[in-house]
Amino acid sequence: MSKTRVYEIAKELGMNSKELIEILQEEFDIQVKSHMSTLEDETVEAIKELIEEMRETKKTEKKHKDLSKDAKELSKEEEEITELTEERTIKEIRLSEENLTLDKLAKVIGVEQNDIIKDMFLKGKILRPGQELDKNTVEEIALSYNTIVSFDSPKIEPEVVESDEEDLELQLAKRWIEIYEKEQDRLTNRPPVVTIMGHVDHGKTSLLDAIRHSHLAEKEEGGITQSIGAYQIEYKGEKITFIDTPGHEAFTEMRARGAQVTDIVVLVIAADDGVMPQTIEACNHAKSANVPIIVAINKIDKPNANIDLTKQQMVSKLNLVPEDWGGDTITVPISAKTSKGIDDLLEMIILVAELQDIKCIPDGKARAVIIESKVDKAMGPLGTVIVKDGILKTGDDFVAGATYGRVRRMINDKGQSVDEATPSTPVQVLGFNDVPSMHSILYVVDSKDEARTIAEKIRQRELEKSQSSNKRHIKLEDIMEM
Ligand code: GDP
Ligand code: MG
Repeated sequence: MSKTRVYEIAKELGMNSKELIEILQEEFDIQVKSHMSTLEDETVEAIKELIEEMRETKKTEKKHKDLSKDAKELSKEEEEITELTEERTIKEIRLSEENLTLDKLAKVIGVEQNDIIKDMFLKGKILRPGQELDKNTVEEIALSYNTIVSFDSPKIEPEVVESDEEDLELQLAKRWIEIYEKEQDRLTNRPPVVTIMGHVDHGKTSLLDAIRHSHLAEKEEGGITQSIGAYQIEYKGEKITFIDTPGHEAFTEMRARGAQVTDIVVLVIAADDGVMPQTIEACNHAKSANVPIIVAINKIDKPNANIDLTKQQMVSKLNLVPEDWGGDTITVPISAKTSKGIDDLLEMIILVAELQDIKCIPDGKARAVIIESKVDKAMGPLGTVIVKDGILKTGDDFVAGATYGRVRRMINDKGQSVDEATPSTPVQVLGFNDVPSMHSILYVVDSKDEARTIAEKIRQRELEKSQSSNKRHIKLEDIMEM
């Protein structure tokens, strides 16, 4: 008699393994150890039948509900409109029509993806994490969280920027978002920015080194003179920018400021150690920031490397199912030590980048994300930036959070001075009045006066914010001591 693995059955039923395991235990009293466990054909058939039945019941229940709902609809609609204009208890969101997935929707509504899955399951709809949704389902889900959706087409960067007249940083971000929305024709593709993440000692730095050594864009020109925390390579004529782990908070902070530092995450997992706490943490950050993940299973040259076990842990601990196991997570076995698999990984990065259709505004004033900052004894405050849009030029006046300046000099990843930096290019910038805070966004503005004025207002606001949060902090402590 043949057997089938739990994750395979789950896939067939359009649910994830975890859900199925829960149902197996709760409804059928079958104890299953993991998604890799097998079930006999007879059992599988019984389960399928029962689950179909469960779904049918839910559907009928839902139909009944819908009917009574219809009757109330008209008066309800009126109520909703009044609420919208008066009390704002109902939230309005705008979404891009393409590529609507459950995790994105959850993020925009502000609820956990898993909660939606549970709530919708109770309503008779089975959803999988990250699954693509049609407009009707999106509306249905949103409405059950008091949210009304309007759709934008075509696709733009789905950035959520709340209007706050006093927040100058967001006001600056809006200028660019407006161009994205209104001038789709102007947008062009830019190279992907890839972040390597993973547990300590799993080989992030080694992988970055291996890639850089084997694929320097311009090998003849001096090689690696200094590291600026990011570099760009060329592989089969395609440029790719890599950055060292920018710290997990970079995702959230930059997104709140209306930009995202990275387009693709390469999650490194050592095959001799498997999924570890920081692997899970990194994975969660990438997921919640909606950045596609490619898994690089590293150290496969080691005698105790266990690729299958690592893949199993990917499924059970990260909820990422490798492609060759029927899932949609691209997984590449590599060795940063012997460089085995590195080309496959680059190949996959280019593939994912193409699917992502990564756009930028190719000309005009630049905006850039700051990924590193420090003070150099000789050169003063320095910031490493990656240009997101426009062209950054020497002589440009800029504001970056509470700091400002004029680009005095730019140094690229090969230690050369350059006068211009195009989108996705990393450069070190000299000319800040002070050390910029990491993860802030640099905006080129019209004049030094404008830059200074904005920076000072932002500094003032930050000061007010920290003072008010200090006050709250003291109050809380006072209460705790009582
Ligand atoms: P990070 O903390 O993630 O940046 O990890 P490192 O790149 O510093 O690597 C940690 C250790 O693992 C170092 O001793 C590396 O030499 C070793 N290492 C990294 N990649 C490989 C690999 O593919 N094979 C082997 N055998 N060792 C590796
Ligand atoms: Mg390292």
